[in-house]
This record gives sequence, structure tokens and C-alpha cells, in this order.
Amino acid sequence: MQQDPRPLVDVGGLSIMPFDSMQDALDAVIKDGQVQHGFGVSVNSEIVMLARKDPALREHINSAHLRFADGIGVVKTVASKGVRNTRIPGCEFWEALMQRAAEQQVPVMLIGAKPAVNAMAAEQLRERGVAVVAAVHGYEQDEQVIRDQLVASRPAIVTVALGAPRQEKMIQRLREFYPNAFYLGVGGTYDVFTGHVKRAPKLFCKLHLEWFYRLCAQPSRIGRQVSLFHYLALHMLRRL
Ligand code: UDP
Repeated sequence: MQQDPRPLVDVGGLSIMPFDSMQDALDAVIKDGQVQHGFGVSVNSEIVMLARKDPALREHINSAHLRFADGIGVVKTVASKGVRNTRIPGCEFWEALMQRAAEQQVPVMLIGAKPAVNAMAAEQLRERGVAVVAAVHGYEQDEQVIRDQLVASRPAIVTVALGAPRQEKMIQRLREFYPNAFYLGVGGTYDVFTGHVKRAPKLFCKLHLEWFYRLCAQPSRIGRQVSLFHYLALHMLRRL
């Protein structure tokens, strides 16, 4: 499948693929019923900060077949290096990917989130015509259960919602075992999709203040959000 011909942009050691639109990013995964085998990572400032301290994670992300800027911080850093790009929120990308999978009859497996959330996400996708061939929640302790389902159901797209960096590490292990699919880490996306967690109101999104909304809604995230300020400081100092 054709790779994005545009130049890659380094952000804090991560090599980002700049995309002009959601459709361009989707084309890099599914086109004419063909699925790019490999994996994708939606890169936000939190992941950039984690990867700066974790060379194995950095190397893993840089080997991804799709590395797009989710999060306004990363989009701005890419733009500050003179490269046009658009923000592709991971959550929206996942929904668009599922829609395209339905249109092109590509089989999908869902891994992660709480048992009820995982089951509801699978059900809602099936109602929209997605061929969900397997679904395993994220509190399953025995990874062999996931492996068995993978080989039995042979999905072409596998999305993993365990939060970063745990989902990235699981994807790495699963790909060695079953490489014939496109894998994507999607964080809390199934929770948002099924209405268990509210997405920030549109105004917050428009102002790129979702991080602030999430902090107010879940104050326990403060530890994680500190890295956002660190990212912002590095961005302003042009150290990314
Ligand atoms: N999760 C899981 N198993 C675990 C820990 C977390 O399935 O052992 C799920 C959790 O239910 C949620 C998702 O992982 O659906 C991560 O959500 P979070 O908002 O932390 O991820 P983010 O989008 O911030 O990376």
C-alpha cells in the first residue's frame, strides 16, 4: 500500500506523519478493501513525554506504519517546523476507521476496556454493520485467551483500549504472534463511544481545551497532566 509521500517531522524524538485530512490518514490503513498490516499510534504530548524517557517505547512508536498527530500540542509543534498538518483526534479516527471497515467488509477485533463497555462497543458497532469477529475486555489476566481468539477469528483490524503505554506493549507482543492485521491503540475510546465517559463539550474542543475539561472531570489525572505543561514549555523553547 502507498505510504504518505510527505516528509516526516521529528517531535521530541518521534517521527510524525503529517496528514491533511482524516481521509488521508484512513487511506494509509484501508484502501479498496486492502488493509495495511502493521500498527498505528496516535501521538499526543503525553506520549511524546513518555517516549523521551523510554527508548524502547520511542523505537516502537517510530516503527509504526501510521503515526499521526492527535492532540493540538503535537500539531502545533509540527506546524512550527514549517509543515502543514491537521489534528486527527484518536477517538474520531477510530470511529471513522470502524465506518470504513463496515463499508469495505473488513473483520475487526476489539480488545480492552471494562467487560460491559467492551461488550457494548462490540454490539453498537455490529448494529452499524461492522463485522466484529472477536471482543475481549481489558481486565482479562490471561493473554492466551486473546491469542486464541485472534487466531480463531482472523481479524484484519485489531483495536486495543488499555491506555498508553500498556496497549502499545501488548500490540508489540500480539503482532509477533499474529502479524496479519493492522493494530491501533485507542486509550479510553470505547468508554467515550458507548457514553460511559463524556467527551468534552464542543466549545472546549474548538478551543483545544479538552485537556482542561478532562482535568476538571477527573481531577485524579493531575499527575498525568503535569507532563502537558512540561511539553508546552519544551515546545515554546523549541526543544522538541
Ligand atoms: N483499561 C483496561 N485494562 C486495564 C486498565 C485500563 O482495559 O488494566 C482500560 C480502561 O477501562 C479504559 C482504557 O483502558 O477504557 C484507558 O483509559 P484512559 O482514559 O486511561 O486512557 P487514555 O485514553 O488516557 O490513554
